[in-house]
Formats: sequence, C-alpha cells, structure tokens
Amino acid sequence: MKNNEKNNKDKIYYTIFTIVVLITSIIIIFALLNKNNNADENEMTYTELITKIDQNTVEKIEMTVGSSSVKVKLKNEEEEKKAIVPSTQAFIELVQEKALEGNTIDLKQKPVSAFVTISETLFSLLPTILIVILFILIFKMQGLGDKGKVYDAESEKTNITFKDVAGLDEEKNELLEIVNFLKEPKKFHQMGAKIPRGILLYGKPGTGKTLIAKAIAGEAGVPFISMSGSEFIEMFAGLGASRVRKLFEKAKKISPCIVFIDEIDAIGARRTGGSGAESENNQTLNQLLVEMDGFNTEETVIVLAATNRPEMLDKALLRPGRFDRQITIAVPDAKGREAILKIHSENKPLGDDIDLKEIATDTAGFTGAELANVLNESAIIATTRGHEKIVMDDLEEAVKKVTVGLQKNSRVISDKDKKLTAYHEAGHAIVSKYLETQQDVKEVSIIPRGLAGGYTMYKTNEDKYYISRTEMEEKLIALLGGRAAEKIALNDISTGASNDIEVATEIAKDMVKKYGMSDKVGPINLETKEQYELQVFGNNIEDIVGVEVKTLIDTAYIRAQELILEHMDKLHAVAGKLLEKETITAEEFEKIFDN
Ligand code: ADP
Ligand code: ZN
Repeated sequence: MKNNEKNNKDKIYYTIFTIVVLITSIIIIFALLNKNNNADENEMTYTELITKIDQNTVEKIEMTVGSSSVKVKLKNEEEEKKAIVPSTQAFIELVQEKALEGNTIDLKQKPVSAFVTISETLFSLLPTILIVILFILIFKMQGLGDKGKVYDAESEKTNITFKDVAGLDEEKNELLEIVNFLKEPKKFHQMGAKIPRGILLYGKPGTGKTLIAKAIAGEAGVPFISMSGSEFIEMFAGLGASRVRKLFEKAKKISPCIVFIDEIDAIGARRTGGSGAESENNQTLNQLLVEMDGFNTEETVIVLAATNRPEMLDKALLRPGRFDRQITIAVPDAKGREAILKIHSENKPLGDDIDLKEIATDTAGFTGAELANVLNESAIIATTRGHEKIVMDDLEEAVKKVTVGLQKNSRVISDKDKKLTAYHEAGHAIVSKYLETQQDVKEVSIIPRGLAGGYTMYKTNEDKYYISRTEMEEKLIALLGGRAAEKIALNDISTGASNDIEVATEIAKDMVKKYGMSDKVGPINLETKEQYELQVFGNNIEDIVGVEVKTLIDTAYIRAQELILEHMDKLHAVAGKLLEKETITAEEFEKIFDN
C-alpha cells in the first residue's frame, strides 16, 4: 500500500511537471514571437521617439505613472506605438521643454491602476515563477524535497489484541512479558530487570508477524509505528539513515510504544562491502544500530522486526542490546489452521455443512494470510453462486482457487491439448500411486486453473516436521511423472512440465546445498555462502553441486519413466477417464486400480 501511495504521488508530480514544462515552453515561444513582432511594427526606440518629437510629428503621448512604457500616437499614423523611456521624470521634462519650444504634444499622465500593475508584474514574473515550480518539482521527484519535512512514520492506535491472533500460543506467552513491561515499565526498572529492546520475528510472509506485533501494542494500549525495510531500497543517498533517525525521534516522543520494521533484511543484509547501493544500506543499518544502542532507560520503546531470511541478516543486529531475542513464527499446524479459519469466519454466515476442521486438514502448509484469503474467496464464490450462506462446496472451491488458481471455464482447449494434459496429469497420479511416501491422489483434472492446464491434487496427511531423503527423492519422481507420461505415451514432450521442472530443480538444489543429502558434498551448508566462502570447500565445489543436482533429477526422471512403462494400461485408463469426465475424484481414481 505504501508503495502504491508513493507511485501515485510520483505520477502526480510527473503530470504537473509535464504541464509546467509545456506552459513554460509555450510562454517562451510566444514571448519570442511577440518580441519580433513588436520590434517590427509596434515598438519604437527611444532615439526614434526623440527624433519624432523633434520633428513635431508626435500627436499624443500617454504615460502611466510608475511605468517606463509609454504609448505614442503619431500625427500621420492611425496606430499607436510603444516606446520605453529610460527615465520617466527626465522624459516628462524633455516633453514639456519641447512644448515650450512650440511643439504640440498632448502628454497624458494616467494614474496607476492597481489591477493593471499587479497583473503586469505577475505576468512579467510568470516565467520566473514557473521555473521555480519546475525546480521544486524536480527536487521532489528525486525525494530531496523530503529533507526538510519531518518523516511521518505511520503511527496508529491498534485495537488488535492477542484474541485476534489464532494459534501461536507459546509465542504469545513469550511476548506477554513485553506487554507487561510496556504497561508498567517502572516496576521492571525498579527490580533491575532488563527487558529486550529488540525482538526479531522470523517467518514466512503471511504467518502473522505484523499481526502479532500490532497485538502487543493493542494489549499494552501503546501506539504502533511501522515502516518497511523495502522503503529504503532505491532511496536517495543519506535519506535512509535520516528516516531511521526521524522514526526513532518520533518513537521516543510518543514512548511507550512499539516500533515495527517489516522486511528488515532489506536494510540489515549482511555487509560485504562494495557497491554504492550497498554502502547506502550500510548507512541505514548503522543508523539503526546507533538508535538501538542509544536508548536510555527512560524510554520504553520496543523494536520488533520481521524477516523471512534470518540467515541474511548482519550479525551486528543480533548483538546484546539490539535484537537479542528471536522468535520463530511457524506456518500453523492443523489445529492452528482451524483456529485461524474460525477467527476469520466469525463475521461470515456459514452454512450448517461447513466443517472447518476438514478444511484445516486439507490446507497443510497454508499461512494465516492464505487461510484468511480462502475464507474471503469462499464468501465471493458464495455470493456469485447466489447462496444465502457459505456452504462447504464454496469453501472447497475457494481452497482450490487459492492453491491452483481460478477455474478457467471459458478457455477453449483443442483436443490435442486436452489429450496432452490428460496424459500429463495421469502421469503424475499414476507415478505417485506407486511411490511409498507420496500422498494419495485427491482429485485429478484437466480443467485449466490459473496458469496450469490441469492439476493433480493430493490428500494431505498429518503435518510433518521432517521430510526424509527417500520422500524427497520420490517427490522428484512424482513431479517428473507428468513429463515422463507425455514422452512415453505421446512420444513428444511439451512446455506443460515447466512448473514441475522448476519445483523439482529447487528441491534437488535444497537437498544438496541445504540438507546435506548428497554423498559427494556431504552435510555442508552451501546455501547462503558467498563465492569466496565456498572456496574453503575446494575450487570445484560448485561443479560437484551441479553434478549432484543433475544426478538426482536424472535418476528421478528415469524412475518415473520406468513406472509409467510398467503401468501403461493404468495410464491409458486414467487419461481416458479424464478425457471423458475432465475431473475425477479419489474414489474414481482408486476404482481404476481395483480391477
Ligand atoms: P506477516 O507480517 O507475517 O507477513 P501478517 O501479519 O501481515 O503477516 O498477516 C496477514 C494477515 O493474515 C493478517 O492480517 C491476518 O488477517 C492473517 N493472519 C495471519 N496469521 C494469523 C493468525 N495467527 N491468526 C489470525 N489471522 C492471521
Ligand atoms: Zn505437471
């Protein structure tokens, strides 16, 4: 949202900028044209004017007090001309002198009209004003205009409390002491207790880190100020540091309060020295460290920061007195998911057949944000379908929509593509059927959803904390089952497998670099290492990683093809059923294997 606002502002600036540039150019062009015209016809030089007066050909001169421009009417000409006189007083004297000498000049002195002077002055100032506006706009667009302005971090009173955060009981418990401290800091100080200044929340996006930080503020009844680390990226030199300073200035002013820094990895990434952008980030990071070290005991400011990539953080952030407490906010388990679904369904009319527990079972791996999204989608689906209440079918459709994307009924699919998709999906289903560790098939479909031409959904069993190497290897086989089926049954391969290949490659890389599951590399973490750090493991460690990843994938692909070849009859049966019915359920799928 923040970014959007910024973009909109930028857009407005650009529009104004363009308009001003246009107007300025038009005025300049007109002024130039006018000048030429005047010089040709309507204007006479002072010398000319004097000559004309001397020749007694001037009939009338009109002057406005305070203006050096005079109107001159010549005796033999219709049109009035303009002239500029260097000194009005001297000119009047000169004309009067000439009159005494027998010249007949009608000299009129008009009093100044306030309106005329103001508009004339304004008009003559217009280019200057426009240029000034231009400069201001240019500075604004570069973000320099902010410099003078006090950075206004969002500060809000939240009415979110721990009640609004489902699950996360241990985490809430741990944070309760922070709440108590914010409520009664003196009590803690008197006891000589040190309360952590900074708390890092680790966890995937959407797991409720912001929510829980707000809940702390809400529980303690203190303001919540937030900013996101990503705001500092692409910012003007020195601005990041100054924003951090102002954020903390404000926090100290309204203390006790909670400061929340989202995506702290954007400013607190490990310092490796080097590029300009990096040194800018360093300034911002240094300022943050200075601020956190600079708290005195009077100020009750608690800084919470969130990140999804703890391994990226600069170690300096984790020193005592800074973010010395870390809390991991995990993806919710089945019980947690049910609780989250319950909270987010409170304001929605639910049909009697709704079973949130079942939905919770079906949504392993979903974050709180995704679950909230599922309920919202289900409400939209129910409305579209004209239901009075949200029924189980709406909710199940919403889960599918969030997992695989929206069903695309309108897309016209050629028979050739349908056949390809049918064999591809049947391939996934068949291969996983014969793999010990893989989950049972829940639904196979060749109706396109989102980006996918079809999908195979698996039942989710219990939430697991550990995944074995065998399971990962078999996952690779299942992922490549689609491609294997295309190749064997249709003797061709397609782009349809690109997502499977992407996922499989990621898993294989993780197996080698993160989980130490490759014998040649061993249990070494190579995931977050910089180039120079890798050299410790020998110069060709990356080549070995590459070979190991490729071996894992190749082996899985061969195994997938073997399984398909072994069960060709089943493959044809499942693909045929898919072409006939488009979507087949778990029961229909299992039936094919019964006889
Ligand atoms: P993060 O900061 O970790 O990216 P958010 O706190 O912004 O995630 O979560 C986004 C939304 O997801 C929340 O506003 C809330 O609606 C929902 N949500 C996430 N976790 C929970 C939870 N534990 N209980 C209730 N709602 C949750
Ligand atoms: Zn696939």
